[in-house]
Amino acid sequence: MDMRILKSEKKLCVSCMEEHEVKTVLVKEKNSFKNKKIEYDAVYTYCDISDELYADEIQMQENDIKLKNSYRRSEGLLTSEDIINIRRKYGITQSDLCTLLGWGAKTITRYESHQIQDKAHDTILKKIDRDPEWFISLLNEVKDDLPESVYRKYLENATILYEENRDSYLRKAIEANYARFQGNALFHGNTELSLDKVVDVIRYFSASHKIISLYKVKLMKLLWYADALSYKKRGFAITGLVYLALPMGAVPVGHNSIINLKDVPCEEVDMGETNAYHFSLKEAAKFLFLSDDDKKILDIVIKKLGKMTKNEIVEFMHNEQAYLKTPSRDVIQFKYTKSLQI
Ligand SMILES: [Zn+2]
Repeated sequence: MDMRILKSEKKLCVSCMEEHEVKTVLVKEKNSFKNKKIEYDAVYTYCDISDELYADEIQMQENDIKLKNSYRRSEGLLTSEDIINIRRKYGITQSDLCTLLGWGAKTITRYESHQIQDKAHDTILKKIDRDPEWFISLLNEVKDDLPESVYRKYLENATILYEENRDSYLRKAIEANYARFQGNALFHGNTELSLDKVVDVIRYFSASHKIISLYKVKLMKLLWYADALSYKKRGFAITGLVYLALPMGAVPVGHNSIINLKDVPCEEVDMGETNAYHFSLKEAAKFLFLSDDDKKILDIVIKKLGKMTKNEIVEFMHNEQAYLKTPSRDVIQFKYTKSLQI
């Protein structure tokens, strides 16, 4: 028989009723369950003297769960461990998750052990796993049934998961937009796109006291100047963004998504007819993705352009060779940065 020894300890053996080294072993077991042949690793106790395998109460329980998990896997259902992990991810108790889903109070407890969930419940648990936004909406529906502090804790956990989810989608979408520029050094300034750097450059500008009224149009110009100056000085840009020549000057590809990235300190301001996007960072901040040389370049950009109004910086940009030589809506090439005005 295929048998692997897990451990061996001296104790009273209930098979031969003698005290001796008794082994705990793993056995490949085949069993029929719901008309299906199931294979799984079962745990037994083994007596060398009587050459007998037997299971104690705990082993019997565990073997039953192993059989059922193996069955669940073969049916494409979540295993009991999968369900435990989903619950742990949200930091929610078994009974509170039942409250959220409108299920009987012991349902999750049962699914995490011997009872196999039906297909409909399985689908719901899988959806909860990948959709923190849905979790939050369900949570809000049962808000009054939970203590305030417990509700807050679940909301906080799910919000973190939601933001991570959303941000990773957004990043993938931006990166997909940039795939077509890969390998064209004159487009991306000899630097591979780093959204971590993009976010940190925006945060660096937003934290500066030397920049007045930082709104979107101005920010986009500052980003271009930072990359252009970096390329002029070092032969490579900071962020890897690709810029288009739009009527108000340089604007990076994917600019609307970029300002929605997590940790970009962007605030929408109601301006009556339209909305404006204002950027400011109040708390003391660290910029882990920027080198000291990157920061020196940003400081020069801030010093030269920080006090300009939106119209002044747009006008300034319009006099750049890089802008004058680029047809409208084309990519601004980094080769023009030699004649940069700063
Ligand atoms: Zn024995």
